[in-house]
Amino acid sequence: MSRIAHETMRHEFADAAWQDHHAVTRVDQLREWMGADADGNLIRDVERGLARAPMALRITPYLLNLIDWSNFLEDPIRKQFIPVGSELLPSHPLLKMDSLHERKSSPVDGLVHRYKDKVLLLATDRCPVYCRFCTRSYSVGLDTQSVLKKKVSPFQSRWDTILAYLRVTPVIADVVVSGGDCFRLKPSRLLAIGMGLLSIPSIRRIRFATKGLAVLPMKITSDHKWTDALVNISDAGRDQGVEISFHTHFNHPREITDYTIAAAELLFKRGIRMRNQSVLMAGVNDDPEVMKQLVKKLSDLHIQPYYVYTCDLVDGIEHMRCSVRLACQIEKAVRGITAGYNTPLFVVDTPGGGGKRDVHSFEHYNTQTGLAVYRALSVRPDQLFTYPDPLQSLSPDAQAAWVDPWRAKGMLREAVRAARVKLMGLE
Ligand code: SF4
Repeated sequence: MSRIAHETMRHEFADAAWQDHHAVTRVDQLREWMGADADGNLIRDVERGLARAPMALRITPYLLNLIDWSNFLEDPIRKQFIPVGSELLPSHPLLKMDSLHERKSSPVDGLVHRYKDKVLLLATDRCPVYCRFCTRSYSVGLDTQSVLKKKVSPFQSRWDTILAYLRVTPVIADVVVSGGDCFRLKPSRLLAIGMGLLSIPSIRRIRFATKGLAVLPMKITSDHKWTDALVNISDAGRDQGVEISFHTHFNHPREITDYTIAAAELLFKRGIRMRNQSVLMAGVNDDPEVMKQLVKKLSDLHIQPYYVYTCDLVDGIEHMRCSVRLACQIEKAVRGITAGYNTPLFVVDTPGGGGKRDVHSFEHYNTQTGLAVYRALSVRPDQLFTYPDPLQSLSPDAQAAWVDPWRAKGMLREAVRAARVKLMGLE
């Protein structure tokens, strides 16, 4: 496989099975793909990046073809999927594996029940590609040199336990099917999980969250059985008054290609409701103009820009995180460029399990220490949740304070105290 090869294999290139089969998962395959650009230093840099990464390497030829190889280190698509050691920074001291505490909120294996009426169902632990910034790096993908994964396999027996829990918990009306990614499920398995959920009368909304449209759009146009399974679930849901939607994950306007347009048009024509969730990342989309372009392009494809998340705390991506202040600035720049319903809400998914908070809604924010404190009234009303800005956005003195455990504790205590004082003044 090489970059020349796919130009002569246009037909194969448009086939999702071919893309899956030729996904690059090893450095030697990447070297082959890079051809003349594969200098030894760069390859060693990738190897160093992978040694530290919590996510295994997996990237489709389609995505590899979107990378500007003459600008490999700065390319916004490369940055999301291929780590290089030279860009890595020490992680924030508050980093913990499973920073959102998903496993602590799981009543049964592979089901996160945090909000009262909504759950997250982890259908599988496989994806068409593996993203460096994946929140679920504790379970998604193959083991890496630094992380042994907690597997969530796509077994019917596991799903049956989940469905049984949902049946006896009728307060749950909303299910997000994620993982892992449903693009890696066989059509029969996708249908089984969709129809299984539709058999539970209390469920009113089902969302299939997938990176697939952004990284393997030809699956929609070439894997007819899979697309038919999705449409069958959507049609069955509509017949019984249950909303089925498809949540995509585009981060940069360059991820929208002719393949994407064909796939999105097909889904729109077949009645699939689509929304997008992005992650805000330095060097990828931390520029108001890039984010505006993304929002406009998605809106034109009838994919509603829904959320932009600040990066979760994941090992090996500190250099990609953005401060709360920057997220607020970009949100302000984007708001008003198009219809309100196509304007994404910028959110922080709070470490510790408070759930998603509007990025502007902090009770306290100290730009010197980089700590924003949020409250999650409908999740855990008595608790406060802190999100730390990336260390590199802070002054040298504040950075030094964070690596001193005693001073770090003091900063945390002070941020929580300031938030409590403010709240007492309001109550
Ligand atoms: S596709 Fe989603 S679940 Fe899979 S690695 Fe990327 S962010 Fe994680």
